[in-house]
Formats: sequence, C-alpha cells, structure tokens
Amino acid sequence: MIDEKCIFCKIIAGKIPSRKVHEDEHVFAFHDINPWAPIHFLIIPKLHIPSLAQLAPEHAALMGHMMTLAPKLAAQEGCNPYPEGGFRTVINSGTEGGQEVHHLHMHIMGGPRPWLRG
Ligand code: 5GP
Ligand code: ZN
Repeated sequence: MIDEKCIFCKIIAGKIPSRKVHEDEHVFAFHDINPWAPIHFLIIPKLHIPSLAQLAPEHAALMGHMMTLAPKLAAQEGCNPYPEGGFRTVINSGTEGGQEVHHLHMHIMGGPRPWLRG
C-alpha cells in the first residue's frame, strides 16, 4: 500500500512538504519541484504502484479517475482552454522511459509557450 522509502508516499503522508493541487480518497496532486512549463503538476495514486508496468485490471477505475481529473485540475491551475490552450500529459515508465521516481505519476504541463522543456 505504502513504501516507507518512497518520496511520493512521503509527500502523500505530509512527511515531505509539497504545494498541493488536489486530494481525495484515491489520489493526490501537487506541483512539480522542477517545473518544465509555467504550470506543471503531478497526479499520483495514493496506492504505491511503482509504474505503469505494474498496472493490473483492478487499477482501471483508479487510472480512469486520474485521467478524468486531469482536465479539471489543469483548468483549476490556470491552463488556457482547449484548443488554443490545452495541456500536455506524460507518464514515464522505467529507466529507458525516463522515469526517475518509482511511484506512478502523471505529469500535467501547460501555460503559454515557450516552455523550458517538453
Ligand atoms: P519522472 O522523471 O519520474 O517522470 O518525474 C519525477 C518528477 O518528480 C520530476 O519532474 C521531479 O522534478 C519531481 N520531483 C522529484 N522529487 C520531488 C519532490 O520532492 N517534490 C516535488 N514536488 N516534486 C519532485
Ligand atoms: Zn510510493
């Protein structure tokens, strides 16, 4: 359920401070400490799932919840409306996939271009 050594589990538990965007029974969302874009936050499940590689059928509703939250939280955090505005969603999985923190997370990035990266 929780990995004591995982930094994102510590953020959920409030042991590491973060700028919270949203919290409910199943997910937590907070601003990325090293943003690539004017708006850059992460949506994570409260359940410690290391990556997309470990997803199982019982996680389908949770992933659906994270996906449907994305546009709501993007608008809440100031992303401009689709289609001129919009936002980018990224889920890195594994070392070759660019994943650095092994607790599943969805990046949401938006705001006026140019961005630092992405
Ligand atoms: P990944 O490369 O695994 O897809 O993305 C991990 C993200 O987590 C990076 O964008 C990084 O800036 C962010 N991150 C790492 N440690 C912390 C932290 O302690 N607090 C916050 N808010 N973000 C973090
Ligand atoms: Zn974790």
